[in-house]
Amino acid sequence: MKVIKKMLNPGDTIGILGGGQLGRMMALAASKLGLKTHVYCPDPDSPAFDVTAFHTCADYENEEALEDFANSVARVTYEFENIPSATVEFLKKRLLVLPDEEALRTSQDRLTEKNFFRSIDIQTASFYEVSSQEDLREAVEFIGLPALLKTRRFGYDGKGQVFLKSIEDVDGAFERIGSQPAILESYVPFVKEISVIAARNEKGQIVTYDIAENVHKDQILKTTTVPADINEGIAREARKIGETVADALDYVGVLAVELFLLSETHDHRLVANEMAPRVHNSGHWTESACLISQFEQHIRAVAGWPLGNTDRHSDVVMTNLIGEDIEARQDLLAKYGTAFHDYGKSETRAGRKMGHINRITPKKHG
Ligand code: AMP
Repeated sequence: MKVIKKMLNPGDTIGILGGGQLGRMMALAASKLGLKTHVYCPDPDSPAFDVTAFHTCADYENEEALEDFANSVARVTYEFENIPSATVEFLKKRLLVLPDEEALRTSQDRLTEKNFFRSIDIQTASFYEVSSQEDLREAVEFIGLPALLKTRRFGYDGKGQVFLKSIEDVDGAFERIGSQPAILESYVPFVKEISVIAARNEKGQIVTYDIAENVHKDQILKTTTVPADINEGIAREARKIGETVADALDYVGVLAVELFLLSETHDHRLVANEMAPRVHNSGHWTESACLISQFEQHIRAVAGWPLGNTDRHSDVVMTNLIGEDIEARQDLLAKYGTAFHDYGKSETRAGRKMGHINRITPKKHG
């Protein structure tokens, strides 16, 4: 029988690895529930440091700092998936780290992730492992073009990937991604990008939020609209994918699965792109349109507390404020029905997520 670990008590401290905006919003949610947070991040300019009771600014390899961190918290979670596995192993020997390392390992490597999806009967784009320019030529023969060459690790927001439209693009492409282990992935002619946010606790209780429709610009998420303009059958299938992934990993916390939707009549109409073992940008809308946000849900799961309901009370469009978008602050603050969220980053850079807005309107359906 599975042993349920001890629940946290009010006033206990949750350690958060990573100090970006996701860590910041998790810390805010924890404090609302009467829990403290201790954020660990190597970047002295971490947005989450502003809103947490305790923080440590040290490298993920610094064992002394990690030891002190472990001694100061009741359990550990994380806000991004590229935490070195040695860091998690070091902490795991001392206390509970949630979600479990297996979820991290799966999502850190695009090849492992795709094999995992396939192993639980979730459709993916065709893919082929690529470790050299030679392999790439073979892969192109196997997969065809157009296709995307993506590094297996450390890729996000379109970084570490090149689009191969025609055979002329193939020469030198492996070098262009830094000659790193990669996969070639077939281009998916999707009609929409959607995502499912699921939360699961230790008891195996799972909840999912309404399916979100995402629009990317320059491969960075620009808007999330909920409800997504999809039929109920597709929404059910997408929720099911979130549940299947969470169950398969015996997951504790919030996770997101990004999906491509092929034409609605296609046999395999939902294709998984990637999963994130953490709260996700396409779930920021839950802050304003649901009683319980994804951030609170994650903290509840990590604390061993009951999950809350995911009902949505409004229709909503979340828009990321990227780079100089944040400078429209005064106009955005004045907009009717709009919640403004600034991540408090000290430097505005092109392509950097600086904040977001949630624009809510009365719920039309359901
Ligand atoms: P990723 O870094 O894998 O999340 O990719 C970023 C964005 O690139 C996705 O949200 C899609 O808009 C696009 N993209 C990635 N992979 C594919 C694919 N196999 N087919 C079509 N578009 C893709």
